[in-house]
Amino acid sequence: MGRVHLSPPHVGELERALLLDAFDSNWIAPLGPHVDAFESELAARVGVGHAAALSSGTAGLLLGLELLGVGPGDEVLTSTLTFAATASAIVQRGARPVFLDVSPATWTLDPALLAQALDDRARAGRLPRAVLTVDLYGQCCDHDAIAAACARHGVPILEDAAEALGATYRGRAAGALGALGVVSFNGNKIVTTGGGGALLSDRADWIARARYLAAQARQPAPHYEHTEPGYNLRLSNLLAAVGRGQLRALDERVAARRAHNAFYREALGDLPGLTFMPEADYGRATAWLTCVLIDPAAFGADREAVRLALEREDIEARPVWKPMHLQPAFRAHPAVGGRVAEGLFERGLCLPSGSSLSTADRGRVVNVLRAAGRGA
Ligand SMILES: *Cc1c(COP(=O)(O)O)cnc(C)c1O
Repeated sequence: MGRVHLSPPHVGELERALLLDAFDSNWIAPLGPHVDAFESELAARVGVGHAAALSSGTAGLLLGLELLGVGPGDEVLTSTLTFAATASAIVQRGARPVFLDVSPATWTLDPALLAQALDDRARAGRLPRAVLTVDLYGQCCDHDAIAAACARHGVPILEDAAEALGATYRGRAAGALGALGVVSFNGNKIVTTGGGGALLSDRADWIARARYLAAQARQPAPHYEHTEPGYNLRLSNLLAAVGRGQLRALDERVAARRAHNAFYREALGDLPGLTFMPEADYGRATAWLTCVLIDPAAFGADREAVRLALEREDIEARPVWKPMHLQPAFRAHPAVGGRVAEGLFERGLCLPSGSSLSTADRGRVVNVLRAAGRGA
């Protein structure tokens, strides 16, 4: 029996064929026909006007913040329960993150807390430059409530949908909710290019500028004219070819992960002290990762004991993200609340959820959890 991974890449024959096509065409560069096609196919899939294919989701966050004018001295309000890239991008722009707590009903940014934080800052005459929302573990944040609060103060939204490609919110796709959206094609995400990401928007001028900045800010002149500094953040044509194949399988990947989630709920739902991350009724989550909460008193073992029991069976499980306001790198920045996220971190465990997870391996996970629940 091999190791069961949390969320391994899942690629097939189509990706292989497209990759070889890119290879054989000798378009082995951070531009080319597969990059262009991937961008238009991704934009169509998400329902936005334009997409810039980039070397990572983090690159998308950095460029998105730059396009919104975020720089030194600015504040950006964001969720404390996220992967570090969200917070790092803000800090790397020279801005100050403010970490807001999440709602227990969705595990995403608490809209009431955000509205209050925006009102407080408006009264003090010091509005944030942007709000960076996070769609967590394949579930969209409560975008309409967040957007209403932001609209009252004219603060733009950048949506970190790195974990949520394929999810919907009131019929709209994750990545299409904010003024700008970011998705990731890292190896552990629902679809992957090995490493990659994209910035999405309806604004053609923003996406054109993102592509230009990501390609060394090169002016159209034969001698390489530059009027401002740029970056090297474009996605390679080889990887874009893989991404095109992956994107075509997105619906199947979502269905597979949701099926794992349904299976876990069915097989573990009767255990006392074990509950699942709620799926909000405003949309359809991808269940990128199935997450459970373990109440040690009722369950008979704590989160860490369960994780170690899984590890002993060569099964990878991970705690829910450690909140940013508790991270040594970001502790000095302000936080608003945080107790909900702290509780989720303390009790939350992400279970193996990859779309290629076998029925047998899923069964192994369930057996370990059921045994751990009896305090075995
Ligand atoms: C994965 C992830 C990112 C970063 O994406 P990369 O492509 O790995 O740079 C950003 N935010 C969240 C919430 C993520 O999970």
